[in-house]
Amino acid sequence: MDIFHTIPAVRDFVRQARARGRVVGLVPTMGYLHEGHLELMRQAKKQCDIVVTSIFVNPTQFGPGEDLATYPRDLNRDAAMARGVGVDAIFNPGVEEIYPPGYSTYINVERLTEKLCGAARPGHFRGVATVVAKLFNIVRPDYAFFGQKDAQQALVIKRMTADLHMDVEVVVVPTVREQDGLAMSSRNIYLNPAQRQAALVLSRSLNKAAAAVKAGQRDVSKIRQLVVDLIRAEPLAEIEYVEIYSYPDLEQTKVLDGAALLALAVKIGRARLIDNIIL
Ligand code: AMP
Repeated sequence: MDIFHTIPAVRDFVRQARARGRVVGLVPTMGYLHEGHLELMRQAKKQCDIVVTSIFVNPTQFGPGEDLATYPRDLNRDAAMARGVGVDAIFNPGVEEIYPPGYSTYINVERLTEKLCGAARPGHFRGVATVVAKLFNIVRPDYAFFGQKDAQQALVIKRMTADLHMDVEVVVVPTVREQDGLAMSSRNIYLNPAQRQAALVLSRSLNKAAAAVKAGQRDVSKIRQLVVDLIRAEPLAEIEYVEIYSYPDLEQTKVLDGAALLALAVKIGRARLIDNIIL
């Protein structure tokens, strides 16, 4: 497995693979890999001949006061894990490689980004869309893999690729969870044992909501309230948002009459955790 730090080096690698007729897959990540990331890589290996994974903690998607400086980083560990699932190359650029001095172009996906994490983290999706567009231009993958864990992000990336006629197919992979239900996340490392236990309230409340829907509940505000009440009962958890929107359009809805996204963001200690389920 190769590790590239510059754009010309990774471009060269991909160009040679393409010349041999290889199908190229890209798995963008911020590193500190876990099973969720590895599942994206395994799916990529299944669908593509060559898999490139990017590891880049993208500063433009972090807001002031967020965890950019403390975000966990461990390239050696990541490289061993990526190699283990057959990744062919890691692209690990420095910040100046991606945002050289004078950099001034950004991508803004409208509408979809006005709610949920977009409302809670102003500028977040502008940073995400910008860096993903850059990675697509650098690697020119046939397929790119994203996790349903970040449901809104996957929708934003799909919207961007369609709107800008990008020649890449976006594949969304189901959320990978710990055995007890907690969605895997690099940020889970911020949790102490009591907080780790408290964090189970996210998946538990989503499952309760799904059970209520299965039992016939269609009233969106009642389903939402059920989730809010469960999370409020957990003293270590602080709700940032609990929302239900139609899926995949993310429109307001009062009654469930098609697929809907129940998404939540909850702070536990210094970890901001997100999770979601399709109802
Ligand atoms: P991140 O490194 O957190 O930016 O995530 C990189 C990619 O991995 C994104 O497409 C995420 O949606 C995806 N991902 C993160 N956690 C999970 C998970 N638990 N299950 C599936 N995909 C995930």
